[in-house]
Amino acid sequence: MAYFPDGSLYEYDEMPFSLPSVRNIGWLSAVHAFPQGPTSTSFLESLKWCACNCSTQQMRGTHTCEFCDLDRIEFECRGRRAWYGSAEIWVPTEGGYFAAPNLIVHYVEQHQYSPPPAFVSAIISCCQGQTPLQDIGKKIVDEAWKQRADQ
Ligand SMILES: [Zn+2]
Repeated sequence: MAYFPDGSLYEYDEMPFSLPSVRNIGWLSAVHAFPQGPTSTSFLESLKWCACNCSTQQMRGTHTCEFCDLDRIEFECRGRRAWYGSAEIWVPTEGGYFAAPNLIVHYVEQHQYSPPPAFVSAIISCCQGQTPLQDIGKKIVDEAWKQRADQ
């Protein structure tokens, strides 16, 4: 999976530009150290809710975890099976969004990844609001492409 430092500007595949209002979180790689530590149960539960309800940028394949050899880590969302590593979670924060691979749930649960506090608050408030944000990332990326074409 692509590695991006926490807080860096979001880029996507062949996108020749980054989105100034969107920040990367949780794009971990085995060759870069990442912050570890305990996280709260409410954060983890909220993160799982967001993986199901704020999913976007669904990809054709799945990314696997570089820290263990599991492929296809399943979870259940509204009675259907989904896989970590197959989509992203986007949640609103002040002035924009955070974009994380949904494999972040596994990183927090199994590898003690401790994301930045601003991301933790964004996830908890998003879940508290209970407003699903499906496909927001796709809409924002499509809009950015359109604006570029119009220039
Ligand atoms: Zn793992």
